[in-house]
Amino acid sequence: MDFAFDNSFHDRMEGFYAPAEAAKPSAPKLLIFNHPLAERLGIDVPGAGDAQLAAIFSGEEMPGGANPLALAYAGHQFGHFSPQLGDGRALLLGEIVAPDGARFDIQLKGSGPTAFSRNGDGKAAIGPVLREFLVSEAMAAMGVPTTRALAAVATGDRVQRERAHPGAVLTRVASSHIRVGTFQFFAAHFGAEHVAQLSDYAVRRHFPGLAADRNPHLALLDRVIGLQCELIAQWLGIGFIHGVMNTDNVAISGETIDYGPCAFMDRFAVNTVFSSIDANGRYSYGRQPQIMHWNMARFAEALLPAIHAVDPADVETAKAMVEAVPDRFRDIWHARMRAKLGLEEAGEGDGELIDDLFDQLERNSVDFTQFFRALAMLLRGDGAMLAGLLPDPDAMAPWVADWWAALERETIAPLERADAMDAVNPRYIPRNHMVEAALAQAEEGDLAPWLELLEVVRNPYADRAEWSDYAVPGPADAEPYRTFCGT
Ligand code: AMP
Ligand code: MG
Repeated sequence: MDFAFDNSFHDRMEGFYAPAEAAKPSAPKLLIFNHPLAERLGIDVPGAGDAQLAAIFSGEEMPGGANPLALAYAGHQFGHFSPQLGDGRALLLGEIVAPDGARFDIQLKGSGPTAFSRNGDGKAAIGPVLREFLVSEAMAAMGVPTTRALAAVATGDRVQRERAHPGAVLTRVASSHIRVGTFQFFAAHFGAEHVAQLSDYAVRRHFPGLAADRNPHLALLDRVIGLQCELIAQWLGIGFIHGVMNTDNVAISGETIDYGPCAFMDRFAVNTVFSSIDANGRYSYGRQPQIMHWNMARFAEALLPAIHAVDPADVETAKAMVEAVPDRFRDIWHARMRAKLGLEEAGEGDGELIDDLFDQLERNSVDFTQFFRALAMLLRGDGAMLAGLLPDPDAMAPWVADWWAALERETIAPLERADAMDAVNPRYIPRNHMVEAALAQAEEGDLAPWLELLEVVRNPYADRAEWSDYAVPGPADAEPYRTFCGT
């Protein structure tokens, strides 16, 4: 099978990667292929059978035109700089230009060691592969910028983690895999010229409109900050906790990348952390905006030599851009929250209304996802859902009164407003207890529960009676949910 690869990174960025080869899987078996995504990419596979898809998307067979490579990158991990990371368990097959002109990386994850594997085995276990597939599909369905999953293939090999697991390979699709850490790698090891070359490439690939800017590197910083503000506001709006916001896991495209320890919050608590290795809560729900700010400061530092080379005076502008991140974020976040609350126009008291809401949600331990659907039900004249979420039916009455007062600023029919809210507030997210149960069964060879859950989270705004179990959190007295990094 051939793809119409057009490998710009391979062709133009020699020295920024290491050629790589996929390990041979012993018995590749297709678990799932994402046909709608293949169609969006313009990859023509209707004639391909499962066996051929399994061969290609496990690394057994290289498609024609592939230039397999591992990208070099560095990164701050939990605040500490690691100068040498890179794709240790991933392999970029090549780039595809979709029918609409958008360019995508096609990458195998879990296909064996590369030049950057250090002590790792370069492999992935089936659980994390299916987890990433599911959660990234859920994110895409909720309109959150994200890498996508094109295929999952079981390798037939065992992967040793805390115990042996069936191995698998995930095919990840991203508008690129350039990370903040990619810039850091070249800033740390090579200096301004390499940084400028990478920046020029990134601008040309992602933001061609900025190429003519007086200082494109400064313009890139500004754009990436804007995209990160949007992204983190989206995460907060759906209770998503990424879990490992290291700078090597920040894509400059503004897509969510690296679905290791991420999870969604059920009952609201601002300090929620799921990742087993995040002992200090560095990447807790509520800290994500601050960490994004910190990561953008690291991005600016990496870009500074290139920015300076164009015009030393722009260094001050870059610093001011970084300082402005919290204000910029707040505006974007408030706009998102207004949409969730059914408000169209900004008002004076919005900040207070939003802050109060989060206090109340935490105090009453309210399920974050259902709450916003319950508000829409209230607009439809049905208060039962909201009452059912609260420890006592009037627990949030003062806040609800403030919200009503804010709604009255605008003249929008309640039913219309309720529908607009339901279009941005998901009913179904990947609930942790559901995800874990489905993955456990998949590991035992039964994919059916996982496939059903996938169908649900691909339709986050639907409301189907037969899916009612998927809308509710797990038992309140369950053990705290823990996630792990290794894919
Ligand atoms: P992550 O936690 O996914 O952001 O990965 C951090 C770094 O560790 C990246 O450079 C990965 O490529 C590398 N890495 C993680 N797991 C493995 C593995 N099993 N084999 C080789 N490298 C790995
Ligand atoms: Mg990573």
